[in-house]
Amino acid sequence: MNFFVTGGSRGIGAGIVRQAVSEGHDVAFTYHADADAANAIAAKAAAQAPERKVKAYKLDVRDSAAVETVGDAVLRDFGTVQVVVPNAGININKLVVSMSDEEWQDVLDTNLTGAFYVVRYFLPAMIAGGFGRIVFISSLAASGSSGQANYCASKAGLLGLSATLAKEYGRRGITSNVLMPGFFETDMTREGMSSANRDFWLKHCPQGRIPDVCELAGVATFLASKGGNFINGQAIPVNGGLNWAP
Ligand code: NAP
Repeated sequence: MNFFVTGGSRGIGAGIVRQAVSEGHDVAFTYHADADAANAIAAKAAAQAPERKVKAYKLDVRDSAAVETVGDAVLRDFGTVQVVVPNAGININKLVVSMSDEEWQDVLDTNLTGAFYVVRYFLPAMIAGGFGRIVFISSLAASGSSGQANYCASKAGLLGLSATLAKEYGRRGITSNVLMPGFFETDMTREGMSSANRDFWLKHCPQGRIPDVCELAGVATFLASKGGNFINGQAIPVNGGLNWAP
């Protein structure tokens, strides 16, 4: 199958790119600013499975016209796309009382509106093919996390978007689901999370460890596999048993 993964240059997205390639899929993925990181991921994936097609595209998911331009290029290069993973995301952490309009908007535009633009673009191709798998990356923070109102609102928004897609397109062979990760060590959490939060995670997570991104990536590819065929409209926690944040 052909995957399209946004934010595939680092962290969780890069893990999904590599997992998909290792399972025999072709992957188009995007990066925003870090072309070197994207090229390194493409090179690693190509070395891992030289027969697979892997290509990186520069994209700012906040820009609807750019999503269409990159989407057109991907469909030209890959023929079609069956699996869409709108993974790109940012956080800008502040208490609500000191959060600016821009800090609110930027996170919503990237995490929620960007995901909407991407899925809307690829839906006609999936409908034409009678098959599609949409896998959103939300967060356990969708149910609230101090200092992350913008992030939590964007991640909760994905739940409504996905549940609606599941109902609108289930009969067209398209499923839509949401992964709800807990804490994964990536640039986002290294830069945006306090050591107190990391300690909280290690103390309270029943599995008592920080997971590897492949432990999330494998769930994403499972949803695109035969085993995931009848899973639709669900929010799937991948959190080692800890489903709340302070
Ligand atoms: P990350 O390491 O910071 O990577 C973020 C990715 O998003 C990068 O590839 C980045 O591209 C891309 N990106 C950022 N802004 C973009 C924009 N405007 N347009 C297009 N791409 C953009 O983050 P991560 O931890 O892997 O997170 C990936 C997803 O998982 C996010 O949606 C995040 O909210 C979610 N998540 C993460 C955790 C966690 O514990 N890490 C937990 C729950 C949910 P460049 O490399 O080019 O900058």
